[in-house]
Amino acid sequence: MATPILLLNCGSSSIKYQVIDAESEAVMATGLIQKIGLPSGTLDHTVAPGTTEERTEHLEQPIPDHAEALRLMTQAFADLGPSLAEVKAVGHRTVHGGERFRRTVRIDDSVIQGLRDLSPLAPLHNPPGIAGIEAAMATLPNVPHVAIFDTAFFSTLPAEAYTYAIDAELAATYGIRKYGFHGTSHSYVSKKAAATLGRDLDDLNQIVCHLGNGASISAIRGGVAIETSMGLTPLQGLVMGTRPGDVDPGLHAFLAREGMTIDEIDTMLNKKSGLAGMTGGTSDFRDLDALIESGDQAARLAYGVYIHRLVSYIGSYLALLGGVDVLVFTAGVGENAANVRESVCDRLAPLGFLIDDEANAVRSKQPRVISQPGSPVTIMVVPTNEELMMARETVAVLDEV
Ligand code: ADP
Repeated sequence: MATPILLLNCGSSSIKYQVIDAESEAVMATGLIQKIGLPSGTLDHTVAPGTTEERTEHLEQPIPDHAEALRLMTQAFADLGPSLAEVKAVGHRTVHGGERFRRTVRIDDSVIQGLRDLSPLAPLHNPPGIAGIEAAMATLPNVPHVAIFDTAFFSTLPAEAYTYAIDAELAATYGIRKYGFHGTSHSYVSKKAAATLGRDLDDLNQIVCHLGNGASISAIRGGVAIETSMGLTPLQGLVMGTRPGDVDPGLHAFLAREGMTIDEIDTMLNKKSGLAGMTGGTSDFRDLDALIESGDQAARLAYGVYIHRLVSYIGSYLALLGGVDVLVFTAGVGENAANVRESVCDRLAPLGFLIDDEANAVRSKQPRVISQPGSPVTIMVVPTNEELMMARETVAVLDEV
């Protein structure tokens, strides 16, 4: 019997959704609602994607808020199927769990209040997440709703890794520490890598590079995260599409004294930095590659900065783990940009990361090894699947009740 689970990922202006059958792990439907709150919104609903039964619906109209977005989603399910009445539970991707939520939880009033309390830590992410949860609970009031946290997988970080070297009282008052993000992806990919190799997760030291628009890297010993690059917020660490990753903490005070407001600095760091900042607006690797081809020096430098940072982190995590068995690339850049994987591994070759150029060039949606036979470190590409991981987490929580 099918156990359809609805997975929701609510951003400020978009909602991604999927229905996955937790029994067969087949995707029954996917959808994307965009431009919520803007003059003209869109909804794309696909049933049975990638099969001969595939059907789609596209809609364009103003979508003022999350409640209206979910009303339109419900309508799309009623028009094309599958029936939302069959859905057994709803899993909500939730960005910041703070110190309170260290694992997936069933949502009740106290959980929603807890998420509200955490909003100052994730002002861009948690408020739209809460709006989505409330709208979904109103839409599907008779099934359990659970929250799956981006931070949960990193709740195992040792204190030495998550503590910032600042005033301890201040840190305690505001919960200032490294939390880490993209945890659902790091967790899924590290398990999948071990399973693909036919190895026991407990026996492996892994470094996972989640390189999408946002990017983060983790060091995982025996399935347990011991270090990761994102911090109090998803700004720290690697160079990203529009975020800088690590900068000198003195930068903020410097710019404030030069006359920029906190909001201007925040927008600059979240939206106008990273690859986009260094190139005058190009955040996508496909466009960056085209610019480099055309001889653009800023694009070449941006690529160099991206690789330099990634290599520095991998070297650091290699030292922390005291040796690494598997290096994994995932997410949009990690899965598709063979040149990034090659540039990184070429720099790391003296440390035992021997990439196989032919295997690296293969395009595939399957998890695969791309290192040379006999390479001291096994290098892999493992496509991430956060929705599948969320469906598994949702079912696991329900089974506990
Ligand atoms: P998000 O963080 O939004 O989930 P994704 O994991 O989907 O991001 O990654 C999106 C990024 O992946 C794009 O901005 C682009 O840089 C990169 N990307 C996607 N497809 C390709 C490709 N074929 N070649 C190179 N880079 C790609």
